[in-house]
Parts: sequence; C-alpha cells; structure tokens
Amino acid sequence: MPRPSSSTPAPDRAERRNARTILDRLVKRYPEMGTALDYVDPWQLLVATVLSAQTTDENVNKVTPPLFERWNTPEDLASADPEEVEQSVFSTGFYRQKTKSVIALSRDLVDLHGGSVPADLDQLIELRGVGRKTASVVLAEAFGMPAIAVDTHVKRLAGRLGLTGETDPVKIELALRSLYPESRWAGVSMRFIQFGRDVCDARKPRCWECPLRDRCDYPTKTPKPA
Ligand code: SF4
Repeated sequence: MPRPSSSTPAPDRAERRNARTILDRLVKRYPEMGTALDYVDPWQLLVATVLSAQTTDENVNKVTPPLFERWNTPEDLASADPEEVEQSVFSTGFYRQKTKSVIALSRDLVDLHGGSVPADLDQLIELRGVGRKTASVVLAEAFGMPAIAVDTHVKRLAGRLGLTGETDPVKIELALRSLYPESRWAGVSMRFIQFGRDVCDARKPRCWECPLRDRCDYPTKTPKPA
C-alpha cells in the first residue's frame, strides 16, 4: 500500500519489514552491486556520473579513458579548453552542458577543496553541475557512505512497489531513508536501478517473472507472453 506523503510519520514496523524483504530479494538477485562506470578515484566518478546523464554507462566508459588521460586531475580539467572537452565527450550527448559542468565542478573543487572531492552531501551539491543524485552516487560508491541516489528507475520502482507515494526525488529519497537502516542505504540505488533495467521496465515490465510480484500493487501487471 503506498504511503501517502512525506508528512506521514515514520514508517511502521510492517512497512519497514516489507521494504527489507524487497531489498533482501534484490540482494539475493544482485549480491555484488556497484556502478558500472569505470573510475579510479572520486573525482573521476564525479565526472563520469555527470557525463552519464541521458546516456548509457557503456557510452561513458568509452569516452572517459581518453578524457582522463588528457586531463588527469581536477586542476587539469579546470583549465581545459572547452572546445577540446566538448569533442572528447561529444558522443555522450548534451556535450556542451556536460562540458560546462565538468569544467565548472573541477574549478570549484580546486578553489574550494584544494582539488579533493569532499565526502559530504552538502558540500558536493554546492559544486556547480552536481545535483543530489550525482552527489549520492559518489558518496555511496566512491566513499562507501550511507546515501540513496534517486534516478528515474528508483523513482519508478519505489512507486510501483508502494514504498512511497511521493513523486519528488528528494521526498522519495527521504522516504527510502526512513524505511531502511543507514547501514543499508548505499546498497539500495544500484540494485533498484539494475532491477529497473532488467525486469521492471518503464513501458513493459516483465511482471510474469518478477520476484517482487507479491509485493507489488502496480495495477496493470504484464501477463506472461503466449
Ligand atoms: S510485478 Fe511488474 S510492476 Fe511490479 S515490481 Fe515486478 S516487474 Fe515491476
């Protein structure tokens, strides 16, 4: 049953138990789960995550090796020629905006943090070009810190599974945080995202083979194809 709104008091025991069962099943399906983006340090993950908007991780992994070979520190990228960076990230789409973002965030890192990526949500979202979702990915993946990134897959699954009735990403994040102990936050997003890609597709969810079917109130479940 969807929880009506974030103004609802803390979830009750049954809601927490249901959320735990859902995550346990996803852990069983995906025992080891992390970002598919290639990176060697938090700054590279930050840049790669910005580049991953509206494209696949695979596409990003094709452009980042030459990108990081050419500009291998925040200081380098901060002073890069935007046209060169645009050419380098062109194939990921939205290349002008992405170029602006990765240069600006690198400049902010140099100016505000001596070139180091802060392991802090508030400080991360102060960087130009870095939103809450990107910041949460970096915190959870690069630093192993408790954080839940809400993207379109997490949003869809949380709604279909009735974990929250919220539609605003920040409110969804807060609702998910309230359902799980902090120690499990970092394991939520990537599993929801992978399950959204593999099974709970936006347009044609594979409900007939879904291990969460008994936990799902989605009214128009897809029948098994004949
Ligand atoms: S039953 Fe269908 S809609 Fe519900 S979680 Fe599974 S795949 Fe998604």
